[in-house]
Amino acid sequence: MSSRFAMSVSRRAPVEVILQGVIDERADLAADAVPAGGPVVLDLGGITAITSLGVKQWIEFVRSLAKRSPDIRVRRVPAILVGQASMIRTFFQRAEVESFYSPWSCPGCRGHHDQLHPWGEAVPAKLACPKCGAAMVFDDLLQAYETFLAR
Ligand SMILES: [Zn+2]
Repeated sequence: MSSRFAMSVSRRAPVEVILQGVIDERADLAADAVPAGGPVVLDLGGITAITSLGVKQWIEFVRSLAKRSPDIRVRRVPAILVGQASMIRTFFQRAEVESFYSPWSCPGCRGHHDQLHPWGEAVPAKLACPKCGAAMVFDDLLQAYETFLAR
């Protein structure tokens, strides 16, 4: 799980910022690497962990970004960031969330599955495993998702 942090910025419009790996105090979250003025999409699907110092870095990054861009969208929010955003109101500032993941574990094949949801979709009570078809178990706090979806 200790994949290094990486940030890449596409130059096409809308500007797409792809973040990957672990956000900790060493993560180089550079808001000034993102072109100012236009819409920005943050793809967070590759984030694997965030530390408490990383959370501080992140909030500062999103705050700086919000000053540079009037239109920020966030897509593929992983479960670890859903948890943070459910506790910290300013985690995504006024960015619009397009999609997020919910984590599931399968008692049938002992696999793990992250289900992608469009914004607004509630986490279902059950879900069939895409590998073996068994009913998977939701692997997180439902309360956190409800709070997140009520933002
Ligand atoms: Zn399975």
